[in-house]
Amino acid sequence: MTDKILQVPSALHRCAGPNCGVMKGISDRWWVMWSSLDERKIPVMHLAQWDEQLAVQEGALHVCGEGCAQKLQSQFMGNVLANRWRKSGGRASG
Ligand SMILES: [Zn+2]
Repeated sequence: MTDKILQVPSALHRCAGPNCGVMKGISDRWWVMWSSLDERKIPVMHLAQWDEQLAVQEGALHVCGEGCAQKLQSQFMGNVLANRWRKSGGRASG
């Protein structure tokens, strides 16, 4: 029996933002992002306020703030367009 319970974080989270890599401290102003395919196989980017359960789900990206969220969104949009171009034979038309 002990009176003192140390609050040890179950997992350390690091920001997924490009050129960031900040470790999550006690700040709650973090965000969770993840992408998935909807029923028509369209890639969808999700953004949610920090939640421990969301943060540990497969494919979750941990984001320290708005700036990194925007970079990741931009990266996601780039990937989506790159995949589309690849599918249509490397050429984007109208
Ligand atoms: Zn960051």
